[in-house]
Amino acid sequence: MNGFKTHNLDIGSNQPVHKYKLCNKCEEMKPPEGGVEMSSTRWLCTGCWSSRTSLRSLLNDNRN
Ligand SMILES: [Zn+2]
Repeated sequence: MNGFKTHNLDIGSNQPVHKYKLCNKCEEMKPPEGGVEMSSTRWLCTGCWSSRTSLRSLLNDNRN
């Protein structure tokens, strides 16, 4: 398992494009910084995550 992990890291450093993640909401490749991993297959970029949280607080305000 350790050998596999080291191999993966080596590939990543050679291909900086793969550092970007596909956002599940806006479907664009975004840098992982600030994004939120919802699950192993779902990831939201910073913009989508902040709009999601503000929408949520808006709904909470409406309920109360
Ligand atoms: Zn997004």
